[in-house]
Amino acid sequence: MATTENRIAAANDETAAIAELDEIVDRQRAAFLADPFPSLQERQATLGALAGMVLSHRTQIQEAMSADFGVHPTLASDLIEVLGVAGRAGYAAEQLEMWMAAEARHADPALYGSGRAFVQPQPKGVVGNIVPWNFPFDLSLGPLVEMLAAGNRVVLKPSEHTPACAELLREMVHATFERERVDVVVGGLELARAFAHVRWDHLLYTGSPAIGREIAKAAAEQLVPVTLELGGKCPAILAADSIDAESVKQVLATKALKSGQMCITVDYCLVPREQLEDFARLAADYVSDAMPGYCASESCTGIITSRHLERIQALLDDARARGCDVRMLEEAGNVDPDTRQLPMSLVLDPPDDLALMQEEIFGPILPVKAYDDLDQAIDHVNAGERPLALYVFARDEAVANDVLRRTTSGGACVNSAAVHGALPSLPFGGIGQSGSGRHHGVEGFREFSNLRGVFIRGEGDLIEAFAPPYGATAQAVVEAAFAGVA
Ligand code: NAD
Repeated sequence: MATTENRIAAANDETAAIAELDEIVDRQRAAFLADPFPSLQERQATLGALAGMVLSHRTQIQEAMSADFGVHPTLASDLIEVLGVAGRAGYAAEQLEMWMAAEARHADPALYGSGRAFVQPQPKGVVGNIVPWNFPFDLSLGPLVEMLAAGNRVVLKPSEHTPACAELLREMVHATFERERVDVVVGGLELARAFAHVRWDHLLYTGSPAIGREIAKAAAEQLVPVTLELGGKCPAILAADSIDAESVKQVLATKALKSGQMCITVDYCLVPREQLEDFARLAADYVSDAMPGYCASESCTGIITSRHLERIQALLDDARARGCDVRMLEEAGNVDPDTRQLPMSLVLDPPDDLALMQEEIFGPILPVKAYDDLDQAIDHVNAGERPLALYVFARDEAVANDVLRRTTSGGACVNSAAVHGALPSLPFGGIGQSGSGRHHGVEGFREFSNLRGVFIRGEGDLIEAFAPPYGATAQAVVEAAFAGVA
């Protein structure tokens, strides 16, 4: 009975949240029509307010992250969710005058006289942002930077898996912005589906490729332009000259960040076959020397829900059942079902048909795949879906460049991993199954802008050549043009 009542209450909440979403979109659209082109100063002030909002809520953000993840390191919350967003807003505010400036384009004076051609970025209008659970502030407020820089109105929809972060997000956004500028809707899957069906002027979705496909279909029904930030398996290729303590540390540290729950983590790595054991030894040494007691410490992020934890454990169980060489990196490390902390492990040279090598892992398990020569490693990557990011570890620059040239991914790093995602100046996004479109930096500003091509007529042009009935002017233009290409 209680369950039925709960279900009815939840359904009512969802209906109310969907009705609220409709109101918000109508309100923002009316506000956009009344004021469609905020000035540079207005946009910079909005970005300043956004930076101020996260900086002044630092402690609440840390607490909400810990509440949702079971354990979440406060310094990681500071670095990524607070300082990352504030830094990105500061960078955009600094660059904005340049980003907003009209860009002159060529107009042949023989045909267009003194007419001028230029690209003028203008706000798209009302933009939606569907946010996943793994970086609840970074992925809601980070893209908000470029959305606001571009002059839009924005509605954010956080994940149902991060209720504490979602509530805080709503509270601080309402306290900081007019609801006509930025708003937040909170709810479950019904709201998420309704959100994807709104006729946005642009929609950003960050999450799994499977749901990304649903979002793309929903957006296509109304021809809503969509940016898809998806996932997949990001590889690290280690060349023979880089199986050393520093490279192994970079790979493991990236995997340990958020316990692997990061779209640009190293999903698996490729290592020369004869150096597989060296890699495993360096990894074990690194964890025992630099990370004692790690998986029970405050630095180790909990897995977001018990269901997600079970999925990751099942991947490891499956590897064991298939006879794979599984190495636990923390001898005393245990899974804690309360904090959902999980020790790190390696799986040495797993077969490609293992679930671990088919699915995005999103947990602290590192498959270390052996290769016989670099071509084989590159072929392995190219045989899979194009990844969101690819990492090369090579002391020889020519080798690193060769790998970059012969592979395709959304982003890349050499001798490091995931760092490209921290730089507000670099475009961020995927290709193929890992997504399409970009946010961060000027590319993000352009993604959320309408790049309007404008021609302003001057004097002395021959544009009447295009107007029927075609006569002497058209004849002269055509003859001159053919003479030019002959
Ligand atoms: P999730 O379960 O939180 O879902 C993401 C969002 O989609 C949530 O807001 C959710 O409410 C919404 N959603 C779920 N089903 C929906 C539906 N049918 N219609 C509309 N919206 C729906 O997160 P997740 O999908 O588990 O996220 C993990 C995935 O996200 C991984 O694949 C990861 O690689 C990817 N990811 C990508 C990036 C990137 O920038 N490319 C960043 C972070 C995560």
